[in-house]
Amino acid sequence: MRGALGGPRVLLRRLREVMAEPVSAQERLDKTVVLIAANMVAEVCSVYVLRVDGTLELYATEGLKREAVHLTVLRVDEGLVGLVASEATPINLSDAQTHPAFAYRPETGEEIYHAFLGVPILRAGNTLGVLVVQNRARRTYSEEEEEALQTTAMVLAEMIASGELSALAKPGAEPAVRPIVHRKGVALNDGIALGHVVLHEPRITITNFIADDVQKELKRLEAAVATLRSDLDTMLERGDVAEVGEHRDVLEAYRMFAYDRGWLHKLTEAVMTGITAEAAVERVQSDTRARMLRQTDPYLRERLHDLDDLANRLLRQLLGYDHAPAREQLPDNAILVARMMGPAALLDYDRKKLRGLVLEEGGPTSHVAIVARALGIAAVGEIENATGIVEPGDAIIVDGISGEAHIRPSPDMEAAYIERVRLRARRQLQYLALRDRPSVTRDGEAITLMINAGLLVDLPHIAETGAAGIGLFRTELQFMVAAQFPRASEQFALYRAILDTAGARPVTFRTLDIGGDKVLPYMRNVEEENPALGWRAIRLGLDRPGLLRSQLRALLRAAAGRELKVMFPMIAAVQEFDAAKQLVERELTHLRRHGHKLPDRVEVGTMVEVPALLFQLDELLKRVDFLSVGSNDMLQFLYAADRGNARVSERFDPLSAPALRAFSMIARKASEHGKPVTLCGELASKPIGALALIALGYRVLSLAPSAVGPVKAMILDLDAREAAKLIAPLVESPAGSVAIREKLEAFAATRGLAL
Ligand code: PEP
Ligand code: MG
Repeated sequence: MRGALGGPRVLLRRLREVMAEPVSAQERLDKTVVLIAANMVAEVCSVYVLRVDGTLELYATEGLKREAVHLTVLRVDEGLVGLVASEATPINLSDAQTHPAFAYRPETGEEIYHAFLGVPILRAGNTLGVLVVQNRARRTYSEEEEEALQTTAMVLAEMIASGELSALAKPGAEPAVRPIVHRKGVALNDGIALGHVVLHEPRITITNFIADDVQKELKRLEAAVATLRSDLDTMLERGDVAEVGEHRDVLEAYRMFAYDRGWLHKLTEAVMTGITAEAAVERVQSDTRARMLRQTDPYLRERLHDLDDLANRLLRQLLGYDHAPAREQLPDNAILVARMMGPAALLDYDRKKLRGLVLEEGGPTSHVAIVARALGIAAVGEIENATGIVEPGDAIIVDGISGEAHIRPSPDMEAAYIERVRLRARRQLQYLALRDRPSVTRDGEAITLMINAGLLVDLPHIAETGAAGIGLFRTELQFMVAAQFPRASEQFALYRAILDTAGARPVTFRTLDIGGDKVLPYMRNVEEENPALGWRAIRLGLDRPGLLRSQLRALLRAAAGRELKVMFPMIAAVQEFDAAKQLVERELTHLRRHGHKLPDRVEVGTMVEVPALLFQLDELLKRVDFLSVGSNDMLQFLYAADRGNARVSERFDPLSAPALRAFSMIARKASEHGKPVTLCGELASKPIGALALIALGYRVLSLAPSAVGPVKAMILDLDAREAAKLIAPLVESPAGSVAIREKLEAFAATRGLAL
């Protein structure tokens, strides 16, 4: 087929001229199909464009009947053209009429053609249309021809994406370049945000598709691949994988692909058709993305993601982009869209302008979700192909309650959400008005409300909520969002900043709770069968005392001249508490000996989150200064239900007798021993949970900052004695005989308590 008209390179050069001509969109399309047909010695060349209504419209043809243009409309499940679009993959047939999907439209006069080659017009993995050539004879199109047609389709993709064709469309039947899209994923952080898309990794726009000199392009490609490989090698050798925020095995996978001959071969082939090296990378990447979207096997999907990432790196290499996204020019109401993002990267953005976050991956326990929560931005994860379907600046709504993203929403949808935002803001104002009101029940019981925190960005929450202090400071969060192990000086600086801001308000620091789902990307993880039951938290701390000791030292020094409250996570036996407390004593002695100023007072306590402690409470309470109940882990272990697995985590009601009996016993024993007890798990952050806990005798609760308002509003209307009277017999009655939640709800409804 490199016949009289000079093959794909000549075609591309001619196409470039046509693209630059000052003609109408229809004329440009008409010229394009004539050029392609002539160049490929095909009798037919047609362009079908995918419309917002999901159908394919014939936009131009050479060879089929002209009258059919803009009249012939196919469904995506109709005929071979539909199949190319729905599968996003080329179809190459020497006798199309024998193919089961063949369906012809009489108005096109297509029935006399046998050979068929159709390729999808793809952009960022999305199908925008179909480009077809046909011949009367039963000929077979070569692989090279297929390749050339795909390259040509790229030029058409740019033309469609530019919006140029919209003028040719009937209303409601515009090209599906920027359709309204609703996607459901998972909620990562509560909240609703309306704003405009900012791509975390800006899409690299290629302006130069057609090569002047193929040899030169091949050399550019070769050089870029060589640099990419040596960069990956160096990163792996240095072992500083955290630099890119990736796990080591991801980098290993990258390196494997970077040396993969198949991938390179595809890139080289694409360049050989006459396009630039960057256009070749995009071509191959677009195919990869399209495959990825059809792939259901999670492992293969992950590998395709790796390939996609690698292609991005290569593109940056070729075009000299640096990695840093446009953080400075963040528009107001920015909604960040990313495939996945490290927690530190999110912290780099200007909080004042950031409203929401949309991720293609990322479950509720991902580290970036923790940061989104601390920043208080609406966030959703698992939104399929989010980065592929948005364009920078697009309007977007993030619904962090239902876990949905609405891209380019209709005015109706937007209006409905604006109303919801208004309502929430009004409620927020009501909570704000409660901020300085003492948290006391109607019958005069003071309930101390503290907040849970873990990062510097949490600091403003103390003042915003009017909380009495920080009941749980999760020190592991600093470790989780950092790119590498925080140095002792960095730990010290954070703890001191927290204590400075808290002032007279108490802060309870929990020592490192890593392991389980709390993984540090820079620490080699030991593969464990059951990480939640594995080598984590205090177990790791006692086995590697160096780490725990340096943290304790940083805490003791930061609290010099003040009070320090420190507690240990995941204590399962009193001996563990003894050993951990001994480390505190040792550090105190060490600091004293070296003349350091010490805290005025040190209180040492423990989390109660392992059920075995329920049966050692008397021994434990003799030793500790205070207890804090971790209902999240306690419930997971009591019910043997993984808290991160939605299938089982919601199977058991935390407001049923077994759990409430456990919480009640802890409160009673603590009171008998005269030791303070707090509850800092999520249970306290729901008004109905707080109601139950207060009824069981808890007087100090530590909450998610956003829960302080709603819980305080409930407390102000509550009669604690009445609630205690209600719950006591319910908890004692045979388990399962009464639905305690329903009784509590009915109680709240008759007393006008807002749950
Ligand atoms: C808990 O387990 O309830 C708790 C507060 O700790 P974390 O959620 O950090 O495990
Ligand atoms: Mg816990």
